[in-house]
Amino acid sequence: MIIKTTKDEIVSYLHDASNYKGFCDAVYFPENETDVISIINECRKTNTPITISGSGTGLTGARVPNGGIVIATDKLNHIIEINKEKFFAVTEPGVLLSEFQEKVNQQGLLYPPDPTERNCFIGGTIATNASGEKTFKYGPTRSYVEELHFILSDDEKLVLTRGKEKADGNELILHSLSGKKYALQIPHLVSKVSKNSAGYYCKKNMDAIDLFIGSEGTLGIITLAKLKLVSIPSEVISCVVFFKEELSALNFVREAREASFTSRLYRKENSIDALALEYYDKNSLKFLSGEYPQIPSNVSAAVWFEQEINESSTQETLLNNWLELIKKHEANEDDTWFASDDNERKELEKFRYSISSKVNEYVSSKGLKKLGTDAAVPDESFEKFYMFSKSLCESSALRYVIYGHFGNSHIHLNMLPENEDEYSKGLKIYEKICRKAVEMNGTVSAEHGIGKLKKNYLSMMYSEDDLIMMKKIKQTLDPQFLLGRGNIF
Ligand SMILES: Cc1cc2nc3c(=O)[nH]c(=O)nc-3n(C[C@H](O)[C@H](O)[C@H](O)COP(=O)(O)OP(=O)(O)OC[C@H]3O[C@@H](n4cnc5c(N)ncnc54)[C@H](O)[C@@H]3O)c2cc1C
Repeated sequence: MIIKTTKDEIVSYLHDASNYKGFCDAVYFPENETDVISIINECRKTNTPITISGSGTGLTGARVPNGGIVIATDKLNHIIEINKEKFFAVTEPGVLLSEFQEKVNQQGLLYPPDPTERNCFIGGTIATNASGEKTFKYGPTRSYVEELHFILSDDEKLVLTRGKEKADGNELILHSLSGKKYALQIPHLVSKVSKNSAGYYCKKNMDAIDLFIGSEGTLGIITLAKLKLVSIPSEVISCVVFFKEELSALNFVREAREASFTSRLYRKENSIDALALEYYDKNSLKFLSGEYPQIPSNVSAAVWFEQEINESSTQETLLNNWLELIKKHEANEDDTWFASDDNERKELEKFRYSISSKVNEYVSSKGLKKLGTDAAVPDESFEKFYMFSKSLCESSALRYVIYGHFGNSHIHLNMLPENEDEYSKGLKIYEKICRKAVEMNGTVSAEHGIGKLKKNYLSMMYSEDDLIMMKKIKQTLDPQFLLGRGNIF
């Protein structure tokens, strides 16, 4: 097993894409479960904190150590099996999501979880319950995790299989492979949004595996995952529509979202059923205009949508349905970017990726931490929430861009401060936005997790009693608080 200790060797493990920075004594690269167990064993004896690292694309500082050692999962990078007949794959956690998706696609299958950044590891996506563009149709990572192998901080191994271990009301009893028993009391936390990555997933009668998905490296180390796959669609329609009026774009999203829900509910073929519904505000388009001079002038917003074409639908009818909606909301068909083949579709995907990565580049260039919201609210409150968030930024005179997964009523409002003063001003706005999201029964984190940067906002969502119960779960499974210290709690 490789162990790195010199500054140059470990520096890349001391930050993540949020630009939060940390420090540690060493980075360990286990190559198998036995290595993982021996590292944990040693750390337990010396009471050394362990931070687990995926690929470091996280946006909350969760993989960044504040002392102790890092377990880097880079060498746990084998895909064990892709089963075409039974629609599943078994993989180690350090496999790159993009590589995994490519291998799965080659077998005519699809693994739907797709955060905009695909240079993340499978383990990182499970530990944050990541979601992405396709979540609007397919749901978050959680929906695809069938089995997890988990090493706890006492070296015990849990094998959690969906459907096998369930809580009895609020009581969840787990047994490790060696027979050690863990009795957990689970709070009942009900979410009214379609995606949520804030704190542990806790519900009466829940499936045990769900507690560990989204646990941000605080409960144990994922060493193996069995993931569900679906059939790959034969074709996908992909378009970016530009709107002169912001309100038209928001109405377009609302109508497309509702039409998609209706199609799914009544299993309507050949009608609107979006795979992705993504939004860019005027400032985002301006921010991207250097790279994309073809963005039409005088537009106030854009929406990127995708829809799968399957055996029971035809491209012509689906396109006509979308065109009708485009015209109804006064977008110009001539200004719409249609992808006519797979390469053009990838270009549109890149357009979506560009805004996120350009914001992160900007933040790094200023030496500041990322100040981007990850809040989502129930669909019925969405427009109000959008207008509220936007008006706070407008009145502050801070630069900002708004984009995100509007199909899921999920906004990334990124402030672009120039200096520490503006950053502090932006933090106050950030807090108000989180408060508003919670007031509207939403979440402060729909997909990035809480990590180290968003801890203060978790207490807006849950009562003190619920947070104490979450902390007790952590304490039962990791009594020395060795793992992911500083994350969530
Ligand atoms: C440009 C950009 C766009 C993004 N877009 C999205 C998006 O659309 N949707 C989205 O959800 N996220 C998005 N993200 C955030 C990020 O990509 C995801 O959070 C991703 O899941 C993190 O994976 P990672 O491997 O980089 O994890 P890391 O950042 O390395 O770690 C994240 C967390 O996972 C834990 N962890 C990692 N591996 C394990 C393991 N084996 N066992 C236990 N815990 C583990 C770590 O301890 C940490 O708590 C984006 C990031 C960027 C930079």
